[in-house]
Amino acid sequence: MNDKIPVTVLGATGMVGQNYLKLLNDHPWFEIVDVAASPNSAGKSYSEAVADRWHMSTDIPSGVRDLKVRDVNDIEGVKDGVKCAFSAISMPDKPDVIELEFSYAAEGFAVVSNNSANRWTEDVPMLIPEINPDHTDVIALQQSNRSLPKTGFVAVKPNCSIQSYLITLVALERAGYPVDRIQVSTLQALSGAGYAGISSKEMIDNVIPFIPGEEEKTESEPLKILGEVTEKGISVTDRLNISATCTRVPIVDGHMAIVHIGFKEKAPDLNTVKSVWRDFKADPSVSGLPSSPEKPIIFLEEVDRPQPKLDMNAGKGMSVSVGRLAEDKFFDFRYVALSHNTIRGAAGGAILTAELLVKKGFIGG
Ligand code: NAP
Repeated sequence: MNDKIPVTVLGATGMVGQNYLKLLNDHPWFEIVDVAASPNSAGKSYSEAVADRWHMSTDIPSGVRDLKVRDVNDIEGVKDGVKCAFSAISMPDKPDVIELEFSYAAEGFAVVSNNSANRWTEDVPMLIPEINPDHTDVIALQQSNRSLPKTGFVAVKPNCSIQSYLITLVALERAGYPVDRIQVSTLQALSGAGYAGISSKEMIDNVIPFIPGEEEKTESEPLKILGEVTEKGISVTDRLNISATCTRVPIVDGHMAIVHIGFKEKAPDLNTVKSVWRDFKADPSVSGLPSSPEKPIIFLEEVDRPQPKLDMNAGKGMSVSVGRLAEDKFFDFRYVALSHNTIRGAAGGAILTAELLVKKGFIGG
């Protein structure tokens, strides 16, 4: 690609927004030319607005540090040439987010969102590129339903809690082992709750066994991702059942999932499972994209892995690390999986989604 595609980041000052800035610095296809946040940050330079909330291990990228932060509601103020808006806003009311994201789409922007508000909108695809790249087919219906311009639409990324385990079960299903039931317990990092999570005093030396709405999302979002595009939108599958318990633990980054799995028919043996995971490859349309990890799933034999400290950055934060595979007394077997919640689970996953949309001609085509 000769010219980079100019993009804006909505919610650029937040935890996910900061990850966008870090990951898009020197990205081969995208360039941040515009940033937006709440009215509190509007009018300030980015470095002034983010101030002591900058949490990345690298400096604020030089191309962004002095950009003036726009009020996210001021759509007319988006810089000329911008084609794509990465949405990482957090607003109290979902209908406001839905309205805002479709207002951007109506102005011709491709919106790729981390916010949960549009995940259950029937004509909005919820994408994990390695799993359901064909769900982009629903975008034509969305544009026609809503009279959007040819370049405008909304696509979303699912919740960070499901990233650690969904790809592992899809790999097994594709190898011919349909899954019947999953019981998952998550240990989720502080950064998953945004800036407020990182600075929360109640999390020091503590575990909180409740994350509002998280268990519902963990149980239901995979059913849309594994669903099919129909002429009415995306139909949700009922072919498997998921039961989830979600907890918040005192580490900064890295969501872990303890998974128990039962199959519809005969279960594969453990060596087959390991080789299915080790050999799993994304479709060629996805595997060549700039943010696509060489190995979407990394299986670890060591008995004490995966660990957030050692493994969350595998594949530049885009691979899922799996270990502790064992037969189980109540299910067919169990294992532990780990993903980087703000990279694979948020900004990195959305950037990979946008790359897929570029490749398919939906952005910049
Ligand atoms: P965050 O750290 O709290 O950041 C929120 C961002 O939204 C900030 O830029 C903030 O701007 C802006 N904002 C707050 N109130 C607003 C308002 N009323 N109008 C417009 N903008 C407003 O949150 P986050 O963790 O980055 O999460 C962002 C979104 O991604 C959320 O929907 C979250 O559920 C989702 N998500 C997060 C993760 C994760 O791992 N953190 C993973 C997947 C999905 P100011 O700085 O100006 O206040």
